[in-house]
Amino acid sequence: MAFGEFDLISTYFTQRWPNRADVELGVGDDGAILNVPEENQLVVVTDTMVSGVHFDEQTPARAIGHKIAAVNLSDLAAMGAEPAWLSLAITLPEVDHEWLTSFSHGLREICDYYDCQLVGGDTTRGPLSVTLTAHGLLPKGHALRRDGAKPGDWIYVSGTLGDAGLALACQQQRCKVSDSHYRRVLERLYFPSPRVALGQNLRDVASSAIDISDGLQADLGHILKASNVGARLDVDEIPLSMALTESVTADLAIQFALSSGDDYELCFTVPESRRGVFDTLMARHPAKPTCIGRVTSEPGKLRLERDGEPWQGPEADTESVGGYEHFR
Ligand code: ADP
Ligand code: MG
Repeated sequence: MAFGEFDLISTYFTQRWPNRADVELGVGDDGAILNVPEENQLVVVTDTMVSGVHFDEQTPARAIGHKIAAVNLSDLAAMGAEPAWLSLAITLPEVDHEWLTSFSHGLREICDYYDCQLVGGDTTRGPLSVTLTAHGLLPKGHALRRDGAKPGDWIYVSGTLGDAGLALACQQQRCKVSDSHYRRVLERLYFPSPRVALGQNLRDVASSAIDISDGLQADLGHILKASNVGARLDVDEIPLSMALTESVTADLAIQFALSSGDDYELCFTVPESRRGVFDTLMARHPAKPTCIGRVTSEPGKLRLERDGEPWQGPEADTESVGGYEHFR
């Protein structure tokens, strides 16, 4: 008998996966039955990755499995939620055992680490694409949202920005960097780390939060719009990796950090009155977030500054490695 849909599900998506006590019924029936703990709310997020759009043939299957989980958990992190259950819709042109083995490993590594259970999904034939829905748990009323920023709040970002964008630019031959830097930034493009612990730590501290999937400028813009406020950023404070700063000019590095996506760091705001609590909390955090600016009262207005003067961007910079035009 041919290897069918049910063999595929049982071989790659059920055996040796984590089991959670709050799953009353997982894969195998028409639907999953899940027990939400009392006084908790469910946070539900979905992301799709399509071949030729979000990844290409050279992307390892393990990276696709990792990343579809990471981007969903990054959304949960930005809401302050704790990841719990996943549902996977996968469309495959054919049953490719090597690809399925690597893909399921990439996905399962994250499930194992965060104790998430795959509780269902759908498997169909067609052009390669993967869609994951993640369910997270949140103590009632403690969500981090985009609409809570107030004038005077401090703006922070976690980690460093722009690396994934540099990796993509290198792949598309818009930039050239050393082999060791390329390995570093490619790891960030293929295997992003969702800021799950940070998101949960920020629950009662941050006034707003978002994860950076489309670039700092665009994603902070969503906070400003939802909160009806503006912001002032000191571009020199934006945290950048050595791989980025050693590969392109200073202004181009800032441009990458501002406008290239796929970093999956968190951008959030902290009111002055919570700053002491926040600093105390973060003292034990391995990668303490960086303060990059302040919320203002001008709705929708984002001011980029250097030494208090408006920042011009790399347009005037003719020395840019890769070149501003190419970058655009
Ligand atoms: P139905 O026909 O009732 O929609 P399916 O035949 O699509 O059910 O799926 C059978 C079971 O396998 C269901 O419990 C479904 O959630 C699960 N399932 C299907 N595809 C996947 C997948 N890719 N990963 C995990 N579970 C899956
Ligand atoms: Mg059914």
